Amino acid sequence: MQYGLRRVVVVIGIGLSVSACVRKVTHAPPASNLPMNLASDDSRGGTSGSNPQGQTGHSGTGATTNQVPHSDTDQAPALVRNQSLPVPAELASAGFVDLSAIEPSISTEMRYAGSYNFMGRPAAGYGVARCLLKQKVAEALQEVARDLKKDAATHFLKVYDCYRPDRAVKDFAAWSVTSVPEDEGTQKEFYPRTPKSELFAKGYIADSSTHSSGCTVDLTIASGSMPIPAEIPVSKDCASGDRNRDNGLDMGTNFDCFDLASHFAPPTGVTLSIQQKQNRETLRKVMMAHGFEPFEKEWWHFYLKGCDGSQRLDVAIE
Ligand SMILES: [Zn+2]
Repeated sequence: MQYGLRRVVVVIGIGLSVSACVRKVTHAPPASNLPMNLASDDSRGGTSGSNPQGQTGHSGTGATTNQVPHSDTDQAPALVRNQSLPVPAELASAGFVDLSAIEPSISTEMRYAGSYNFMGRPAAGYGVARCLLKQKVAEALQEVARDLKKDAATHFLKVYDCYRPDRAVKDFAAWSVTSVPEDEGTQKEFYPRTPKSELFAKGYIADSSTHSSGCTVDLTIASGSMPIPAEIPVSKDCASGDRNRDNGLDMGTNFDCFDLASHFAPPTGVTLSIQQKQNRETLRKVMMAHGFEPFEKEWWHFYLKGCDGSQRLDVAIE
């Protein structure tokens, strides 16, 4: 517990100091945590409220799969899952499991544990990169993964965020009301058409999230491997055709693109290709077939119906 508290302070400290150098923040690329048969094939928010990555990092983050990050940390934790750690006791007693222990074929790329996210730094509470969820949610995702594999053997699920400590949700909210110009180094990549000051009001950032209950997951369908950008800002509009791409199927936008184009059915004026629509529909269909409820404003966000989303936990991910 002492360790956990100390890490939280350290992470917050990083947050305060990193804003001054965010223009060159780097992170570890996702690891090749792909199913063995795919490894050689060649990528806040979550605002729903009531419903609403072993390669070595080259950038100083230096973590690999199964490596326990150091506690001194002028370094960001890698985005790669860590399978060697037990689930924190308080979460285990609340019914949480590590998704990777339930279904290893699901790729994990925990964006808030690294710097490639809308804040340009790790979020509070993300001491290590791992996907923790309520057991029933993880088991439902296991079924989704199996169904997906039947239809497209080269496709697999990739999660971007799972259980989110409440302190991270609060971190997002606090970030949204600060006016540190350097933060805007992430703007084009994550909120190209919405002023930072409006992200909260427009629902892209909220003060509470069902992610904190372990009932909600952000994910996509992926194929092959492709590292996410090594540096931010990368200055690519997250909803544009030339946006930075990871190994996710083409959904029309990147994950956490706070934009109307991320709505499952975007309003008039936003055009999706037939393939992009089909990819979104494929994800939605297979998730809903196993009890997940979609969120209209974010194609990547799903809540497991029947899961108690009212319980919001604030245990750091260690
Ligand atoms: Zn979400």
